[in-house]
Amino acid sequence: MTNAHDLEFPVQNLMEVTERPEIVFVKGDGAYLTDHRGKRYLDFVQGWAVTCLGHCPPVVGEALAAQARELITPSPAFYNEPSLRLAGMIAAHSRFQRVFFTNSGAEANEGAIKLARKWGRRFKGGAYEIITFDHAFHGRTLATMSASGKPGWDTMFAPQVDGFPKATLNDIASVEARISARTAAVMLEPVQGEAGVLPATVEFLRELRALTRRHHCLMIVDEVQTGVGRTGTLWAYEHFARTAAEAPDIMTLGKGLGGGVPLAALCATEDVSVFEHGEQGGTFNGSPLMTAVGGAVLTKILEPGFLPGVVDAGNYLGAQLSAVVRDLDLSHERGWGLLRALALGADFAGRVVTYARDELHKHPGWDDMGLLLNAPRPDTIRFMPPLNVTRGEIDRMTEGLRIAIDAAR
Ligand code: PLP
Repeated sequence: MTNAHDLEFPVQNLMEVTERPEIVFVKGDGAYLTDHRGKRYLDFVQGWAVTCLGHCPPVVGEALAAQARELITPSPAFYNEPSLRLAGMIAAHSRFQRVFFTNSGAEANEGAIKLARKWGRRFKGGAYEIITFDHAFHGRTLATMSASGKPGWDTMFAPQVDGFPKATLNDIASVEARISARTAAVMLEPVQGEAGVLPATVEFLRELRALTRRHHCLMIVDEVQTGVGRTGTLWAYEHFARTAAEAPDIMTLGKGLGGGVPLAALCATEDVSVFEHGEQGGTFNGSPLMTAVGGAVLTKILEPGFLPGVVDAGNYLGAQLSAVVRDLDLSHERGWGLLRALALGADFAGRVVTYARDELHKHPGWDDMGLLLNAPRPDTIRFMPPLNVTRGEIDRMTEGLRIAIDAAR
């Protein structure tokens, strides 16, 4: 429980849903955050892969301000220009012709689940099951918790939503064993993020696509964390889908799509977009304010040279982490693009995160500066820098990481 008296800000009126350090952030710029005491932090978490252009990039501020002066929302019952433009951009640069905007990744996945069930009812004799994977993370609504593969999550608020048999990532036989006439879809993250950055193999993803086609099931990719350039391609499914036949039927987006503002999306091919009027909607969905920001962010990411820059930075980060593994005798590094993880080989990741944040400033060169890292597992540190991170920032992070690992073990 946070002790409010140690802070200059009262915290007792927020619901306690997670343990938070006694820091209140007041400013962000690029790869850095500043807290209420004026201490700066190099941030390799970026709101959990959300602020993909760094904190407070001018392009986001300008799009918000300009749109707020024109039209904030006319209600989702009417068309608005920014949402039409952003849906058009996503369609032009992906395999999906139809987009439904949402406010969070969980809501996009909840929509994907509904769409797959609707499709199953119409085209597959009432099939409703969606095969998902152990350790998967799809969100915190009742259905997406049930779809997630975190132990205990499908019964935490029982009775929850059933119909999510679990398979094992990269084990095609485990999926085959669960496919039946009841199966409407298979849903997965191309790289399991919250599980600790565990990539599906390209071979597995291709086999899975072929299997779902043979059994007349949909393939849903949850790209809430991997989409919008994070893995070095615009969408992670591009790593395995060479042709339209290999592409998934449904993709969900979130996090980076809004560059920090609440914006997510459910994207589907034309033939799978089977919602009828009244079956999907929401007060804030596809508001011009948020979709104008999404349009500005996507425009930036589609600029020539941006995605090659992500690939380059990802390779550089991977090489720096490999050097840390070698020098400090750790287990290994892994990941795609700028979604990477360092496997320590022992359970002290939490201590590394705390040390980097709270103690690094005691070391020469880190005066009044901390480093923000994330530990999705006790033995794993995850890196989600801004997609425009510089080599200098990666070097500085690596230097701080080495100090924190040395101190923490
Ligand atoms: N899906 C994936 C792969 C995620 O990583 C997350 C969040 O971490 C979600 C869904 C849920 O998104 P949100 O927190 O925006 O509801």
